[in-house]
Amino acid sequence: MQGERANNTWVKSQNLNLVLNLIWESSLVSRAEISKKTGLSRSTVSQLVSDLIQTGVIEETGSGDSIGGRRPILLQIKPEGRRICAVHVDDGGQIHAIVEDLLGNALNQSSAFVTEAGELLPTLKVMINDLLENDLERVACIVLALPGIISGDGRILSAVNLGWKDVPIGPELAINFAVPIFAENATGLAAFGELTARGLESRNLIYLRIGSAVGAGIVTYNQLHQGLRGSEAEIGHMVIDIKGKLCKCGRRGCLETKVSRAAVYQTVKDSLNSMGSELAQINGANVFEWLVGQDAEERPLVREILTTIAQNVAVGIINVLNVIGTDSIVIQSKLCDSKTFWQVLNETVANEVLPFAQGGFELLRSILGETAILKGATAYGRRHFFEQSRFSIEDYE
Ligand SMILES: [Zn+2]
Repeated sequence: MQGERANNTWVKSQNLNLVLNLIWESSLVSRAEISKKTGLSRSTVSQLVSDLIQTGVIEETGSGDSIGGRRPILLQIKPEGRRICAVHVDDGGQIHAIVEDLLGNALNQSSAFVTEAGELLPTLKVMINDLLENDLERVACIVLALPGIISGDGRILSAVNLGWKDVPIGPELAINFAVPIFAENATGLAAFGELTARGLESRNLIYLRIGSAVGAGIVTYNQLHQGLRGSEAEIGHMVIDIKGKLCKCGRRGCLETKVSRAAVYQTVKDSLNSMGSELAQINGANVFEWLVGQDAEERPLVREILTTIAQNVAVGIINVLNVIGTDSIVIQSKLCDSKTFWQVLNETVANEVLPFAQGGFELLRSILGETAILKGATAYGRRHFFEQSRFSIEDYE
């Protein structure tokens, strides 16, 4: 009997999520439509809906069109029914955190800064408690967007720029906060943010971020790509020239050694060495802005530099496309403001990628910019809550 009860509880929990997810995806839906779409009987749907109303995550609102008889009452997500907290720790130690409701409306936010790995736990504890006003009730989850390589149980295994190794922040926070905690690489979550913001039906996307480092994230069928052995979507460390320059990862000729800000600054310095006064205004932090601000039509040297960067980025994208065959590639970089860069990138990828049997692909500029990480983190938390939280009604009785 115990086994049967456990089984019934599991089925009910699955069905609660099925109905909740359908209400979320539909925005407005009646009980009869839920029954039709899920195949669950009307009485089962009525009970599940009543349970979901009791937990405070959905509410009744207005009425829909009648198809004969009474006009059906419509159901929608109750925004304030749960809160989602997301925290981004960047690779310079800056921390930004946000709390959103179930529809993505921002409720509260804060920032902090740490220099040592040992400061991370106490800082995050204070930040999260302040943001949630010391009230864990109705918190769906906390999502951590972390730098570097993240283990399955939420440890920062290695964050090279910060010099951090094996920081068990996920497990430590789980001891302090009795809510689900997810920890993912920040760039992976940015990929999720861009996918969600675009509402891409294909649910597949490659995200490439080119700045002081080259990061990437891959989403396939709405799931973040999780590599084996702690490496995932390391497109920046794809070797494209095995005899090339030494990379900070210890190997030679990674994509990052050719297109990061530091690499491009070196190229500009080497190319402009006869133009001392102009060079004095350029550095590793502003080199992309400087290149983009030049008239590439008038300056062949600038055009050549932008063309070479675009071709190198294209090689990285082509190699990933040939392996994964996704249809959307989103690029976040100041370089995308350059007409030359964007044109050469598009042409090179289109000309050199393997022809695909079905459909084409599209190169897209980021629409969320720097907000992609936190937006992606809360979207990830929301999706998990609606689709897979498997919450049990008994918790609320
Ligand atoms: Zn490398």
